[in-house]
Amino acid sequence: MEPKFATNKGLLETHELYKYIVENNVYPREPKPLKELRALTTTHPWAVMGTAPEAGQLIEILLKVIGAKKTIEIGVFTGYSLLLTALAIPEDGKIVAIDVDREAYEIGLPVIQKAGVEHKINFIESEGLPALDKLLEDPENHGSFDYVFVDADKGNYINYHELILKLLKVNGIVVYDNTLWFGTVAKPEDSVPEGYRRGRTAIVEFNKALATDPRVSISTVPLGDGLTICRRL
Ligand code: SAH
Ligand code: CA
Repeated sequence: MEPKFATNKGLLETHELYKYIVENNVYPREPKPLKELRALTTTHPWAVMGTAPEAGQLIEILLKVIGAKKTIEIGVFTGYSLLLTALAIPEDGKIVAIDVDREAYEIGLPVIQKAGVEHKINFIESEGLPALDKLLEDPENHGSFDYVFVDADKGNYINYHELILKLLKVNGIVVYDNTLWFGTVAKPEDSVPEGYRRGRTAIVEFNKALATDPRVSISTVPLGDGLTICRRL
């Protein structure tokens, strides 16, 4: 039998604690260009989609410890996670950045240019799946990527995962964002507001599939809206 769960609610049980973490540990050391990009995004109607800066800090450490050089991002929006990746990888590092919305990317682009990292980015205006298929057409791309960040189109996470496992190196990392879906994954479907249900169903199915996937080791981290970090075995 499984051991009983601990009864405490976990670390992030209050807004005060969240505020403490971001004000004490995150904002004071957030790189200037990222701060600027976050500020630029606050007026966008979908500003909440931007990657949480506390999650960004973890991603930066991951990128550095694995020495990520060849990377992919699906779901760029105004570019917070893209810029943080571009700042963390070396001068000759590359990011294939995929999004259906070039306009949102162009909001953050001047900050990316000013930070001197645009040359690392190959922006592809496309749906995620065909763009990954295209990468797979080149045999040199198979098993060659160090890192992938997936933050678009939750209904396709399960399909992205299959293609990404072909593109990743052994020990390569793929990070999926929003895998706790506003906490709704742990609530009965009928208690969840209508607008969250489709995403919830997709994420619940995805999390279930990952839990038993023998091709990766995983860690789900309750930062931002939940991140699941997978390492290709
Ligand atoms: N990582 C971003 C946030 C991404 S928000 C940040 O840190 O700011 C999700 C993005 O996914 C949106 O920009 C949206 O245009 C894009 N998107 C939605 N469906 C998509 C699809 N099928 N393929 C590619 N991008 C998609
Ligand atoms: Ca996200």
